[in-house]
Amino acid sequence: MPAARAAEPDLATRLKLLVEAYPESLSGVEGNMLLLRDGGEPLPIDDGKAKDHQSALAGGDIEDSLRQIYPLGACEAKPVVDFDPGRIRSDALMMRLYGRTAKAVEGDLVPVAWFGTTLRVTKRQGAAAALEKVRDALAERPALKRYLAPSAGTFNWRRVSGAPNMSVHSFGAAIDLNTTFADYWVWSGGKPGKVPRHANRYPLEIVEIFERHGFIWGGRWYHYDTMHFEYRPELIAIAKAAGASACR
Ligand SMILES: [Zn+2]
Repeated sequence: MPAARAAEPDLATRLKLLVEAYPESLSGVEGNMLLLRDGGEPLPIDDGKAKDHQSALAGGDIEDSLRQIYPLGACEAKPVVDFDPGRIRSDALMMRLYGRTAKAVEGDLVPVAWFGTTLRVTKRQGAAAALEKVRDALAERPALKRYLAPSAGTFNWRRVSGAPNMSVHSFGAAIDLNTTFADYWVWSGGKPGKVPRHANRYPLEIVEIFERHGFIWGGRWYHYDTMHFEYRPELIAIAKAAGASACR
């Protein structure tokens, strides 16, 4: 008999896991406010606005960013329309975690050796250290190198292509792998809410290693971006609490 699926964690539990995932910057929750250690104003958690998927992507609040539960594991589950776990983010929170301007973010980038090249990754929130652990685990499997390098980039202060919200690349907390094997819903001629099918070309052991160290994979999104990984330890923690697996 398959193991029973754990109940989806409620918002309070998700927020607790969020705070625990970023101890450098977050200190707790008080009512509808997220408390930060930077001495600045607390951030509202739920703006109270009803949003469809596109407006949540364009202007998500913290609660929106935790709503879809990311599934874990070396398997692919075909996502239903608009299931994009992790793609909704709160720009306000990301800016408090990593920096409000390109210059502020750049000041915290550190070099990370990556299969013959050097990447620039934020040291904030432990992201660079986590990517080094990913690299060390991947390096034990030389056959994977062709998928990993050259990396198509880490830090790049920009908005998501065709969208008003910031890309995680702006914060130096995302990495794109070798584009040779990439499938991206925009390149495939997709439209929001209607994307063509694709067959992922990256070995799933890569995905499993990234997830082990706090990164989510863009290949799990309905609006897929298979070369893309981003550091979202709160979503990995929520996935574990929910018992959310891609392997069933
Ligand atoms: Zn990317």
